[in-house]
Amino acid sequence: MIDHDGPDDAGIIFLDIDGVLNNGEFLTAQNKAGLVVVNDAFDLSSQVDPAMVARLNSIVDRTGAIVVLSSSWRVMAGLGKTSMILRSKGFNHKLVGETPYMRGNYPRGTEIQAWLTANRMGASRFVVLDDDRDAGEGHPHRFVLVKDGLSDEDVNLAVKILKSSNQELDPSPGTSKPKSISKKHRQERLRR
Ligand SMILES: [Mg+2]
Repeated sequence: MIDHDGPDDAGIIFLDIDGVLNNGEFLTAQNKAGLVVVNDAFDLSSQVDPAMVARLNSIVDRTGAIVVLSSSWRVMAGLGKTSMILRSKGFNHKLVGETPYMRGNYPRGTEIQAWLTANRMGASRFVVLDDDRDAGEGHPHRFVLVKDGLSDEDVNLAVKILKSSNQELDPSPGTSKPKSISKKHRQERLRR
């Protein structure tokens, strides 16, 4: 089972980093300050905006949700190093895991579904924070498309989604698009 402090039904945040914990304006300002090299390597921590990390903290504080890394940073830097970097930027919580890296050009939403299935959390409340639409594939009602780095509005929407049941988020499956219906079937299969 996942190692975390919160209640089991508190929900899951799937976290992207680029475009979520930074934005164009922040990166431009960082690059103007010069490329930071530590131990002969590009300092990734310069890419994380502490103000956006504080907003991520507030989602966890308000919901008790656990955080799972779905960003390409899990491949590029690894879970441990990413965790250290986020903590150095003020993250007060833990990254409890990472989505599997699936070879073969799968949308990120599929990797998220694979994590939910592997951890028997297919029926859990969750929210996907990402600036790329492929992360929301299969999870249209549990997706926050972050447009310019994590904003207060994104935080409020993420909290609302985490506190809502699937029924509350999608009360009329009969009139929704085919994609939502296939998502419903998948969730029903997971509950069996
Ligand atoms: Mg991104």
